[in-house]
Amino acid sequence: MRTADCLNHIEPYLFAQIDAKREALEAQGVEVLSLGIGDPDMPTPPHIVAAMHKAIDNPKNHQYPDYAGSLAYRQACADWMRSRFGVSVDPKSEVLALIGSKEGIGHLHVAFVNPGEYVLAPSIGYPVYSGGAILDNAKVWYMPMREQTGWLAEFADADGDGYVGPDAPASEADYGALVPDEILAKAKIMFLGYPNNPTGAVATPEFFDAAIAFCKKHDLLLVHDNAYSEICYDGYLAPSILERPGAKEVCIEVFSMSKAYNMTGWRIAFACGAPEAIKALGTVKNNLDSGQFTAIQEAAIAAMSGPQDCIREQCAIYQRRRDLIVDALQAIGLDCHAPKATIYVWTRIPEGYSSAEFAEHVLTDAHVIVTPGSGYGRDGEGYIRISLTCPDDQILESVKRIKESL
Ligand SMILES: *Cc1c(COP(=O)(O)O)cnc(C)c1O
Repeated sequence: MRTADCLNHIEPYLFAQIDAKREALEAQGVEVLSLGIGDPDMPTPPHIVAAMHKAIDNPKNHQYPDYAGSLAYRQACADWMRSRFGVSVDPKSEVLALIGSKEGIGHLHVAFVNPGEYVLAPSIGYPVYSGGAILDNAKVWYMPMREQTGWLAEFADADGDGYVGPDAPASEADYGALVPDEILAKAKIMFLGYPNNPTGAVATPEFFDAAIAFCKKHDLLLVHDNAYSEICYDGYLAPSILERPGAKEVCIEVFSMSKAYNMTGWRIAFACGAPEAIKALGTVKNNLDSGQFTAIQEAAIAAMSGPQDCIREQCAIYQRRRDLIVDALQAIGLDCHAPKATIYVWTRIPEGYSSAEFAEHVLTDAHVIVTPGSGYGRDGEGYIRISLTCPDDQILESVKRIKESL
């Protein structure tokens, strides 16, 4: 058999080594605790599950769904965008149901990028931003991310337009913020996602405005992945990029039920924004999938239009866990800050280790899984990601074990 060459360019699964080690330890009877999982541990709220029970009994739902999503689903998405962000999108031309946001992001590459062209992706990011391009025989230009700049991706053109942190190195070219003209000419999409996995960073309005202006100037589609908009702390409320003036001309935003409503296994999300992009993505999807099970769309309608207390309750739990972890990590001398959003704490590791070495050390000596930052890309080296998706007692036990191992 002769598989496509692009498969050879996919990075090896960075966590395979950790998984193998974990299995070996567990085979010896060792109890391994995981702070590595980016998947909510709490169940889907009961009113959403109840809506699914009802929807699954309706024989109409057993047939092929509406490919773009039922109009009721798209209307619920539009209503939610309005009530949550004050953003108006037309359910018919500016909203599209997705089988999870990963599916939508992957297929956006097919809709926009020709072989040999480029996408601009953050140098620390969700793997499908780059993986989707590689599977499409396209290329990735990585935008640097630095702690000094609050982990906001940096991009600039030869005119000096773009977004570069206040204390940028002397030459933008030195650290890759300057996107060369020849790359820009071949670039089609810029991906961003704030609140950010894995850094927990949040965006400023000025940052979004700079990205919108840059994408307009260079005729790029701006894709904003808003998977964590509902997971916020300390009174912070994450925005939609579509709140920014002119955003809908160049931008589509992807929102997922996965983290907001503990629905990762259900595979339901939506894209909204620039109608040309929604149309192009819809064409790709029409030809490759037949939409998501209508019963699942009905459950997602219940999620978006039902009571939202479940989000507040769950954020309170994550916030308590965040504080436990941050206090404990600071107590053992690790330099970390409490994130305003997401289910992750991102922390610098002690000198003398690479991210992978530190994760390996913690697994071997403390029997705790943490995720090496380098697994998310170049600029993640020197950091690890810790997830808030396990119960308090396991969090405390994990941190105690890590402390003893250092
Ligand atoms: C979890 C996550 C998503 C959600 O993906 P789904 O396919 O909708 O489950 C999207 N983006 C990021 C950055 C995530 O961490």
